[in-house]
Amino acid sequence: DKGLAVFTSGGDSQGMNAAVRACVRMAIYLGCKAYFIREGYQGMVDGGEYIQEANWASVSSIIHRGGTIIGSARCKDFRERAGRLKAANNLIQRGITNLVVIGGDGSLTGANLFRQEWSSLLEELLKDGTITEEQRKKFDVLHIVGLVGSIDNDFCGTDMTIGTDSALHRIIEAIDAISSTAYSHQRTFIMEVMGRHCGYLPVVAGIISEADYVFLPEYPPPNDWPGKLVLKLEQERSAGQRLNIVIVAEGAMDREGNPITAEHVKKVIDDRLKHDARITVLGHVQRGGNPSAFDRILACRMGAEATLALMEATEESVPVVISLDGNQAVRVPLMECVERTQAVAKAMAERRWADAVKLRGRS
Ligand code: ATP
Repeated sequence: DKGLAVFTSGGDSQGMNAAVRACVRMAIYLGCKAYFIREGYQGMVDGGEYIQEANWASVSSIIHRGGTIIGSARCKDFRERAGRLKAANNLIQRGITNLVVIGGDGSLTGANLFRQEWSSLLEELLKDGTITEEQRKKFDVLHIVGLVGSIDNDFCGTDMTIGTDSALHRIIEAIDAISSTAYSHQRTFIMEVMGRHCGYLPVVAGIISEADYVFLPEYPPPNDWPGKLVLKLEQERSAGQRLNIVIVAEGAMDREGNPITAEHVKKVIDDRLKHDARITVLGHVQRGGNPSAFDRILACRMGAEATLALMEATEESVPVVISLDGNQAVRVPLMECVERTQAVAKAMAERRWADAVKLRGRS
């Protein structure tokens, strides 16, 4: 008789709906009441119609849709204890003590803090008469499980995050489309690709599009990169190649930590080569469109596993995140992954690139 709620938080990614659907349906299948929380933590804090009971049909026909049908938001209120107190009351009043949070490291950190504070939040609600002693006892433990929805594949502890594969599809579709026109006119295309401080999208896009040059956040090029870039592009043209593709990660930088942008690269090509160079910034196109088959099945497996993990959780269990390890959906300690992910971000900010790559490990 304890409810399970699922919500999406932080940036959206393709496949989130498939994950929501799997969580809800597995919960209903196991005889548990399932809820949506709309607009992430904001909906949890505001309560009311933002927290809705879900049924089998309410997650019908969403598996193929991009984004998140239950909305996502960034929420200042939840960063304050007062906001989390309101959120706790909203959950207790509906009997929800199981949460699936689908988001990035920030959302998972917030969920972990909420779980740690849960007893003291309940004490406070009891003291001011908002909840009864019976409610406090009945709902004394909050269980949380995380799923990582992110196109960047920047979370430590999982081989793939939900949305990465679809984003790669968007990137490669755009590069293929541009390549045909670039080929006709012997152009050089400079593509700016997302990924913040993680070079996964640009490096994979570079390999599968036969790009001539890729600028990545983790491997800043030597200071004489303009000369090396020009030489490479010249070599390719003189070998008979009619088009050139250069990929610039949005977080690319030089060894001093200065950003390398698509405009910088274009200027080098314009000044030194007189190629017809054009910039394409893919931007939010990468987050858009339908999820790929891979993301749909990944999200289905992860969502179902998240609900199972919650149903099997005991008072002693540590919060977990559902990860992909090879081909297996596995449960790994949430805070270990979050801390490693944050350590990578810190190492990148401090320009300790080799440390960042080492810390990130396989994922
Ligand atoms: P993305 O990778 O897309 O940025 P994210 O989950 O890391 O996703 P954040 O903006 O960092 O995105 O976090 C989303 C929300 O999670 C915040 O708006 C806030 O409500 C909550 N949150 C994040 N960090 C904390 C924290 N330390 N304490 C409480 N709540 C937090």
